[in-house]
Amino acid sequence: MQERLHLNHHPGTNPPTFTSKIIDKIDESIILDTSYFYPRGGGQPGDIGVISDGDLSVDVGEVFAKDLIFHPVNDIDCFELGTILQCNINSENRNKLARMHTAQHIVSAMADELWNASTVGNQLGTQESRIDLLFDDKSKFSIEHIQNAVNEILGQPIPVRTHNWSADEIMTDERVRNRSFVGKILERLPEDITTMRVVEIQGIDICPCAGTHVANISELPQMEIVRTKQKGSGKIRLYTQLKNDNE
Ligand SMILES: [Zn+2]
Repeated sequence: MQERLHLNHHPGTNPPTFTSKIIDKIDESIILDTSYFYPRGGGQPGDIGVISDGDLSVDVGEVFAKDLIFHPVNDIDCFELGTILQCNINSENRNKLARMHTAQHIVSAMADELWNASTVGNQLGTQESRIDLLFDDKSKFSIEHIQNAVNEILGQPIPVRTHNWSADEIMTDERVRNRSFVGKILERLPEDITTMRVVEIQGIDICPCAGTHVANISELPQMEIVRTKQKGSGKIRLYTQLKNDNE
């Protein structure tokens, strides 16, 4: 059983260097016995990084998961099965994604507060992210309104915590937004998963999420909605950037 260590590691910034053994090679990817690499999912790209046996260092492409975590490399024959590797996740890339991801929680929370709008999709990037909002009445939407509401929170000393909760705990906590949507996700989980990781931005937002986040909202710079796009009935797509990170 391969361990997915990113779930136990919070905050999700500055991921640790770790050693791990090659237990398999599948297609063009290395399978490690344990991994802190975040596999892409939930709108967050996978980590990239470097693995080394002490002599040879090899780049790892965007990590992804099926039943296992796959670490893609250019030359699958570069290391033997059983080799112990030193593994380094690209921290700059991870930290930018953790900042973007945490800011996205706040955008989604404010869209819910202001207009009862649900987040129905998102794709995070290191430079720019997009967030799809679904409105009952999208004529109420105002870029300035949500941008100001989010920026009043960003930079404040507000802790971000993680919990492991059962589906019952999640579905009965009134602070969890969009519970009808969350309930559909919980229904699709395999039976052997009894708890889910829940991310709490104290007093602002609480929702199940397996992504990576900062430890405190004070770490986040101001956000700008650089443009929007109408996405059919009731939906608006926001394109967001964080100051200082969009370069
Ligand atoms: Zn998250």
